[in-house]
Parts: sequence; structure tokens; C-alpha cells
Amino acid sequence: QLKTEASQALYEEANLYTPGGVHTSIRNVEPHLVFTRAEGAYIYDADGNKYIDYQAAFGPYILGHNHPYVNGKVIEALQRTDLFGNGTTDLEIELAKKICKHVPSAEQVLFCNSGSEATYHAIRLARAVTGRPKLIKFQGCYHGWHDYVARNMLSAWDMVGKRDPGSAGMLEEALDNTLICTYNDLADVEQTLQREEGSVAAIIVEPIPHNIGCILPREGFLAGLKKLCEAHGALLIFDEVITGFRHDIGGFQKVAGVTPDLTTMGKAMANGFPIAAVAGKRKYMERFNTKPGGDVWFAGTYNGHAVGTAAAIATIELMEQEPVHETIFRLGDHVRSEIRGILDRLGIQGVVSGFGSVWTTYFMDFEPKHYAELQHNDAEFYVAYRKKLMEKGIFKLPMNLKRNHISYSHTQADIDYTLEMIETVLKELKSSYKQGTEAGKA
Ligand code: PMP
Repeated sequence: QLKTEASQALYEEANLYTPGGVHTSIRNVEPHLVFTRAEGAYIYDADGNKYIDYQAAFGPYILGHNHPYVNGKVIEALQRTDLFGNGTTDLEIELAKKICKHVPSAEQVLFCNSGSEATYHAIRLARAVTGRPKLIKFQGCYHGWHDYVARNMLSAWDMVGKRDPGSAGMLEEALDNTLICTYNDLADVEQTLQREEGSVAAIIVEPIPHNIGCILPREGFLAGLKKLCEAHGALLIFDEVITGFRHDIGGFQKVAGVTPDLTTMGKAMANGFPIAAVAGKRKYMERFNTKPGGDVWFAGTYNGHAVGTAAAIATIELMEQEPVHETIFRLGDHVRSEIRGILDRLGIQGVVSGFGSVWTTYFMDFEPKHYAELQHNDAEFYVAYRKKLMEKGIFKLPMNLKRNHISYSHTQADIDYTLEMIETVLKELKSSYKQGTEAGKA
């Protein structure tokens, strides 16, 4: 049994001052933990429980928590500089140069503070460039909290052909102008573009929809999107907020060999420090009014703060100098093949998916093709699985439709222990719990 008394007491206090006691909706899950320390692959709560962390705060920690090299560079930067309301900084120039060097679509780049800001700017730019109102996004993909990407994977209504209520308070127009297609279905996208001929500004896509775990693009899907965009005069936006820097220093676009018009990045870019970026073709980026004559508003008091820029430079530098991706990819491959073996040995229905440092176990008996099929996922089984793993000191995301992240700080020993515990826990669950209570319902 997990000791949570100290966390519970603090959580009650948090609720007095903050609605729900947490500062992001998705953080409100049981057990309600209060975290007090993070280091490398480990996180610690108020009761002194230590966990090997695979949630990685939804993905930023590619090097590990509180990485000494990154933190050192941030401290060094703060000893001489911080934030200015005019001009630019040496750190901003250095970081922009690195991103344009590594990310194929980045001829120019602008910095902001969160992934939501980056997608907002990219979508508004696409609307300005094309003079069109509509946006195509994909079922299950998440691009932030704002009205421009009103529909997201958290809603049961995020199904093709249905209208998502989005969030209370959203503009009806934003919902009306967001069209949903099925990931990996080029025919669906083509039909939508034909039906809406002349009104679609952009297609935005997570090149791998990690907000529903890991569904890989079918051969030719991403290249097909690019062709369709060219044929119908829309811009292609890769939302690489999760995939950028995690799957390659050049993002998943480098791996896929498909170069979008615009790219959004965040998360792994700065190993947990708050910074994000929108990048793309110069001819589009120069529409932003950071350049005199530009007519697309771009601003932010904290844009380019020394903390985020120094952290991003350091994170990318480490990727340039050390075998970061090679190491985390090797561990990822190992985890996936071992979990596959465990499921087979125990006769548990499941699909093990992933890419590089990311893995997902869907407790279902067939390869999911899109979000709708994930309704077959055995959510109840996953909740029990996650809870038991927490008791063994392993921390996973609260939802089965999400992913696990390996960082450069995870050791082979961490991974071996994790796999051992996964087998132990699944063995216990198999004898005490009947899988399939949800399977086949949808
Ligand atoms: N795009 C993607 C693909 C994301 O996963 C997220 C956040 N999970 C966002 C955009 C929004 O980023 P942020 O939470 O930093 O605003």
C-alpha cells in the first residue's frame, strides 16, 4: 500500500486556494500526490515515496529531471542576463541558429513560452497567408487549450462527423471552423478538402499522435498530406511539440523525410524549461510583425527569456555531443520487445506500440488504427495496473491512451527493475482480475 498521508493533507490545503488543487486539469487524478523533489529518472512525493518517472511531465524530460548540464547553463546565464523589452539577445540568436540548422522545415524561427502559443501562432499565420478560415485536425491529436484547436482527444465527441462541444466559453465560430479527419486516412482528408474547396487554411497534425499513445503514420501518409496541401493551397503544420527533439534532433520530420510549411516545437526542446517555438519557411515567417511591415501579430513579454533559451541551447548541445538518441532508442526497443514477451508469456491481450524512447501498452487484442478503435481499450485493467506499479515505485501516466517516456537519465538497471515489476504486477492482475470488461463494447 502506498503511503499518501502527507500528500493528502497538503492536497486538502491546495484545494482551499486552487480549484481542484491542481494547475492543469489533467493533473487531477488519484491518488492525489504532492511532489517535492525530482532528480534524473526519479521523482519524490511528500510522503517520501520515490518513483522511476515515465510520465516525464508529459514529455519534456528527455535528459532527465534537473539535468546538471542544463541547470548549470541556466544558472550561468542568469548570473549575467535575464529579459529585455527591446532588441534581442545573444542567447536567442544562438538558439535560433541551432534550430534552423537541425530542423529541416526551419528557415526561420520565433520563440514563445508554451506549445499552445506556438500552435496558435502557426494557425493564425496559415489563415493570414491563405486568407482562408478553416483548419483540418485529426481525431485524437491535441494541440493546446485555445479555441483555435477547440476539439481535442479528451472529448468523447472528438469523433469524425460529430460536433465537439469543446470547452464552455469557446467561440462557436472556432468550433465551426475546425474540421476533424481520421489519422492515417488520406481519402478522408482529400474528400474533406474537396468538400471545403478554397476554405481550408491548414492541416495541423502530430506526425505521431502521441496524445493517444503511439499510432505510427502509415507509409506515405505524411507525404500524402503534403501533396494534398500543395494541390489544395493549404499549409501543412507539423505539431512537433512532443516529437520535436525527442525522436531526432531534427524532429520526426527528419525521420519521415517530409518537410512541412510550419512546425511547432516545445517540451523536449529545453528539457522541462518553459520555451516553445514556431518555425517555417522564410516567406511565411516574414509575415509576422516582428519584421517591419509584417501583418501577423506576434508578441509575448516573456518570449526569449534567458531561462528558456539557455536551457534549450544546453539541451540541444548535449544532443549534439552525446549519444542521447542512440541511448534512449536502444532502451526503448528493449522495453517494447520485453513487454511484448511478458504479455505473450502471461497470455494477456495487449498491443505494445512506440517509437524511439516512447512506448505504450494498449490492453486490447488488435492493432489500433485510430481513436475510435481505442474505445476497445481496457481502461479498468490499466487503472489497476498503474496503481500497482506506483506501489512498486514506477510512475506512469494516468491514462492508458497516453505514453511512457524514457530519458537519458534512465539506466539499464532502472529499466530492468521496471520490466521485472511489470511482469510481477501483470501476473498478480491476471489471477485476480478478469481482463476484457470493456473490450468489445464499442
Ligand atoms: N501540441 C502537442 C502535440 C501537445 O502534446 C501539447 C501539450 N501536451 C501542446 C501542443 C500544447 O502545449 P502546452 O501544454 O505547452 O501549451
